[in-house]
Amino acid sequence: MNKENYITSAEENLLHTYNRFSLVLDHGKGVYLYDTDGKEYLDFAAGIAVQALGYGNEEYNQALKNQVDRLLHTSNLYYNVPVIRAAERLAAVSGMERVFFTNSGTEAIEGAIKAAKKYAYTRDGHAGHEIIAMNHSFHGRSLGALAVTGNPHYQEPFAPLMPGVRFADFNDIDGVKSLMNDKTCAIILETVQGEGGIYPADAAFLKEVRALCDEHDVLLILDEIQCGMGRTGEMFAWQHYGVKPDIMACAKALGCGVPVGAFLLTERVAKTSLAPGDHGTTYGGNPFAGAAVDAVLGIMEREDIPGHVREIAPYLEETLDTMVETYAFLKERRGLGLMQGIVCEKPVGAVAAEALKQGLIVITAGSDVIRLVPPLIIEKKHVDEMAEKLHAVLKNMAE
Ligand SMILES: *Cc1c(COP(=O)(O)O)cnc(C)c1O
Repeated sequence: MNKENYITSAEENLLHTYNRFSLVLDHGKGVYLYDTDGKEYLDFAAGIAVQALGYGNEEYNQALKNQVDRLLHTSNLYYNVPVIRAAERLAAVSGMERVFFTNSGTEAIEGAIKAAKKYAYTRDGHAGHEIIAMNHSFHGRSLGALAVTGNPHYQEPFAPLMPGVRFADFNDIDGVKSLMNDKTCAIILETVQGEGGIYPADAAFLKEVRALCDEHDVLLILDEIQCGMGRTGEMFAWQHYGVKPDIMACAKALGCGVPVGAFLLTERVAKTSLAPGDHGTTYGGNPFAGAAVDAVLGIMEREDIPGHVREIAPYLEETLDTMVETYAFLKERRGLGLMQGIVCEKPVGAVAAEALKQGLIVITAGSDVIRLVPPLIIEKKHVDEMAEKLHAVLKNMAE
């Protein structure tokens, strides 16, 4: 079948929830993807910040192949070795003490919300607690995660959502304080906002939120689904800030292509939070997903992927800053490590579409941001190649 036939079939059979680029991807190698026509693309999107190790990492692939032949699934009624190893590694790199594996980011958020509610319920002897979330946040599409996603456009058709969520502006501590009340059980935020437009938390803001939480025994839930797993130059973005969450949600690059998420708790919170009967999943943390997480964390640690990000990110930042200086319609660069956004006054969807013609994959965030979340293994030459291709796009747009 040729590309047009594939796309026709897709549009006949898949539910139309995405306006997809007309690209049928076939295979990948390193930081490059290839479509069914054999055209090569430099990938600065990584499947939305998932493919941290790029494509075709031999050690990772071999670990998955071995696990396929050994055991794929057991259910959580029994122990399995890969998930035990994965949990050990995840606890070690995060300093969090208890892990629950899920199948996605949105499920990790659901679990995090339930954990916070249960903690407050145990303490107070009753339910009815509330959560403070941030405007322009993104935490997922299921109804609980959507309820804490500060985007009215995503929420509106699905009301009523989970009640008891109040929204503050990100990086506005007075706004957060003004929403606190006796019912508040948690504050949830992305350490670096992703979909909302690549906004890193201010250091002072995050410290003050942490202090506020400590003062009122409110739990700090950090969503590290996009910004975690080495992307910002630390394994988790909060490790830049000297604050630690009570609950953390993780997914995307946690599995590097195998669908897996996790929420993690400190022991203090876990002790009086979710207990047998409170939460569960059939697939979550199965041996296959466990093998993926084990392999990803093993490779990231041995190859010091966060260290590589700290080395290469300044070069990407410089390159993007030069771009912002060159084109009047580019207004600002924001980001942390290999999670970068450029504010653009031309239609960003068109930038991403034109980039594909140049053999470059970039995505967008918010309504006016070009988002760059490449595999974490990129080298300077890839930054140069990206710049050359993006310049070609931007030059055409400037004319
Ligand atoms: C992607 C994302 C989610 C949702 O994860 P899914 O795996 O798509 O369910 C939640 N929070 C953030 C910050 C994300 O980037």
